[in-house]
Amino acid sequence: MDRCNATELLRLKNVKVTRSRIAILDEIIASDNPVNAIDLHNGLSGQLTVNLATVYRMLKLFVDVGILREAFADNGTQYFEMACVHNPAHAHFQCSKCKRIICLSPLTFEDTILFSEASKIGEINEINIKLKGICQKCRSTA
Ligand SMILES: [Zn+2]
Ligand SMILES: [Zn+2]
Ligand SMILES: [Zn+2]
Repeated sequence: MDRCNATELLRLKNVKVTRSRIAILDEIIASDNPVNAIDLHNGLSGQLTVNLATVYRMLKLFVDVGILREAFADNGTQYFEMACVHNPAHAHFQCSKCKRIICLSPLTFEDTILFSEASKIGEINEINIKLKGICQKCRSTA
């Protein structure tokens, strides 16, 4: 899978390039699932001293300039993912047991009754569909 380069992306969006911004963005680019601020912060500890409030601020900035999107919210925790060409909007599946959030394949508007109906009403620019269940891994260990 093609992935963005953090430095290039920050420059493209006119965001000042700093070591901590690259480090955070690199983690998100490398992740296949949506990530939250606390996990990102934990992942950084050791390499860089960035406090949690700074991580939250960076995530907000990245969303504002269109680098990230809020993919998922769970009990007040927000999960973020790349909003780039490599990652078109899609629905998410969360396992109620291990809490893992899995990205589903992007849906095209023609694909489903839901979207063809919605597109008659207006233009869709955000998809926020959350499916819950038990993942294969948890089912097999149950
Ligand atoms: Zn990308
Ligand atoms: Zn699970
Ligand atoms: Zn996703």
